[in-house]
Amino acid sequence: MKTILHEQFGINAIKVEKLSGLDNANYLVETVTEKYIFKTYPYTRDALTLVEAENTALLFLQNEGQRNIQTPIPSKNQSYTALVNINGQEYICRMLSYLDGKFLVEVPHTKKLFQSFGKFLAQLDLKLQQFTDYRIAARKLKWDIRHLNLSKKYMEHIPVIKDRNIVYYFFKQYEENVVPFLPELRTSIIHNDANEWNVLVAQEEVSGIIDFGDMAHTFLINELAIAITYACYDKENPLEWASILLKSYHESLPVQEKELEVLYYLIAARLCISVCISANTRAKKGDNEYAFVSEENGWQMLYRWLAINPIAAENSFRQAAGFPAKNPLPIAKILEKRYEHLSSILSVSYNTPIYMKGAAFQYMYDAYGNTFLDAYNNIPHVGHSHPKIVEAGQRQMAKLNTNTRYLYDSLNEYAERLLSKFPDSLNKVYFVNSGSAATDLALRMANIHSGNEKIMVMEHGYHGNTRAAIDVSYYKFNDPKGSGKKEHILVAPIPDTYRGKYTNDNGSAGKSYAEEAIKLIENSETPIGAFICEPIIGCGGQVPLAKGYLKSLYPAIRNQGGICIDDEVQTGFGRIGDHYWGYEAQEVVPEIVILGKPMANGHPMGAVVCTSEISASFEKGVEFFSSFGGNPVSCAIALSVLEIIEEENLQENAKIVGDYYKSLLTGLQKKYPCIGDVRGSGLYLGVEIVKDNSMEPDTRLAHHIKNELRNRQILISTDGPHDSVLKTKPPLCFSKEDAFKTVEQIDDILKTHY
Ligand code: PMP
Repeated sequence: MKTILHEQFGINAIKVEKLSGLDNANYLVETVTEKYIFKTYPYTRDALTLVEAENTALLFLQNEGQRNIQTPIPSKNQSYTALVNINGQEYICRMLSYLDGKFLVEVPHTKKLFQSFGKFLAQLDLKLQQFTDYRIAARKLKWDIRHLNLSKKYMEHIPVIKDRNIVYYFFKQYEENVVPFLPELRTSIIHNDANEWNVLVAQEEVSGIIDFGDMAHTFLINELAIAITYACYDKENPLEWASILLKSYHESLPVQEKELEVLYYLIAARLCISVCISANTRAKKGDNEYAFVSEENGWQMLYRWLAINPIAAENSFRQAAGFPAKNPLPIAKILEKRYEHLSSILSVSYNTPIYMKGAAFQYMYDAYGNTFLDAYNNIPHVGHSHPKIVEAGQRQMAKLNTNTRYLYDSLNEYAERLLSKFPDSLNKVYFVNSGSAATDLALRMANIHSGNEKIMVMEHGYHGNTRAAIDVSYYKFNDPKGSGKKEHILVAPIPDTYRGKYTNDNGSAGKSYAEEAIKLIENSETPIGAFICEPIIGCGGQVPLAKGYLKSLYPAIRNQGGICIDDEVQTGFGRIGDHYWGYEAQEVVPEIVILGKPMANGHPMGAVVCTSEISASFEKGVEFFSSFGGNPVSCAIALSVLEIIEEENLQENAKIVGDYYKSLLTGLQKKYPCIGDVRGSGLYLGVEIVKDNSMEPDTRLAHHIKNELRNRQILISTDGPHDSVLKTKPPLCFSKEDAFKTVEQIDDILKTHY
């Protein structure tokens, strides 16, 4: 090495020390009087072109008076690069001056330092705006945020699927929120890598910057996005630190409003590039430690970034740059508008309704910049805006959407995949667009097959909004405003082991409740055509059927020709943790199963799954057709739901997180006499709120807890005959930390209540 240095650059090195580097080798060279940085790159024509371009840029900047950047040192033959053969391989070499100082990563971060960083970068960019270079402009660099897609293929190397999905989510957000605006963004050559290992500091001020090797002709705002990414990725409150940097940059080089609109997503994109490249390097078994220096911080910030409402980020950036925060209409105005055209019969959640703008996994974002932890909505089963779901829907929508009167693969494929989740006896499926439509169809089928009109329903049960579904929904027809029980309906008492007549949940209560229901059947003048029931009665207050209930009751229904209909709209697809379907917990197999809500993660889809015998009876009648049921888009989305549940082990997550969540809630029950019962399973739990040490429902307190949680940005709801049961059934990506946070807040609310 020393010989090369002498021969090519006339430098007499007394010490040569190898430094870290990702795509090339760097050496610290010391002579008696000077220090230099010597860089070698494996020769390619492109590499040589770019190294030459980098030297040109450095010389340009120097000419413009830029201090504290490295100076290219000419070789003996007055060139800034030299080609040498080292151990049989050709290398490009160059020598740069050495800059003193500590790196940003090595010093404490202060407001003053960040201010000087912002100013330094802006001044650098002001000069670079004057610089053009076709070699740099022609470059397609994976570290350039504009070329985010070049990193997409590395995503598969991210080992933890949850991590991978967050990256995938931000890729999709980039497509949605940045790509359409790219033509409006200013472009320039920028340094493109102002990371904490490239920025030099002296006396609490940024004194210089090294490594122009990633220079790109890209969007000017990317310079700030990158600086913010690395300067803030270990910070608990990245927005605060980002604002300091942005404000001082803006003072020298004003940013534009449309640049701030996309900045949140650009920062996320740079984080994604970083973790994708690290994952790829690791997968290739690279042992280059330098590839991983930012990995842990990158992940930490990605998770933190996800919990930041993009609107909050934009407003924080806007305020830093002196633009007024964007102010959406107040809630009262939105409500007013709603009731101009919509009926007041549509309720809204919470005393202060929420004006929603976006959502991601277990988070929901409102219009005012708040992030809510969703511990309530079960429809986005695998998580809000799950990128695989979004992609499946978008792709199919762009290709074909039609109806079941044509042949297409996804219908057959999904039917097969869905039915593989059921025992052999349940082998036919009919697709519709809601749980209500599924209930309606199931009742029709049961009626046709059994020939009997009479239906036994569950006390407090709910099955949908169609006329037939309301008839079987005690929760609706028994409401003071409801139309009452119809002649052909029998109501089985709810087998509730907390509030009911029998409380021993070892199987004896289930049997006793079943016997009561059987008596009703026996006393009925006509046979029962169908019995419809949920495995956990949602609107009844998340009441699980007493153990063994259906096992004792189903045979009696069948004995007199009735069909057992199981409503899995709330409980299906792994939510209850121990089982994929709720009926399995009761050790029975129904003849008809109704599906809905989580089936397509919020896309409207429902289904009736039944035996071939019931299907055969139905086939004798008029054609069944649903314009939308089972369309290619629905099938593509629903197929993704099944895949995600498996890939991400969401049933297991429901079990593990659900058990933990329930144990925390049970812990609270010991502390507060207002918690009468904690019940349910997996991520489908109910907490019964009562007047202290009694079983008297405390609706007011339940509502207080619900609304207080809302004010603390956690979403749960209430249900039950007295609306006194807190219900929580979050997306299945809910974590133990989320469960902890929710229970911690309930604890805090109750602390002030007592
Ligand atoms: N069954 C149950 C158990 C439900 O909870 C619901 C909806 N809450 C339905 C059926 C009706 O589903 P949808 O609202 O999709 O019509």
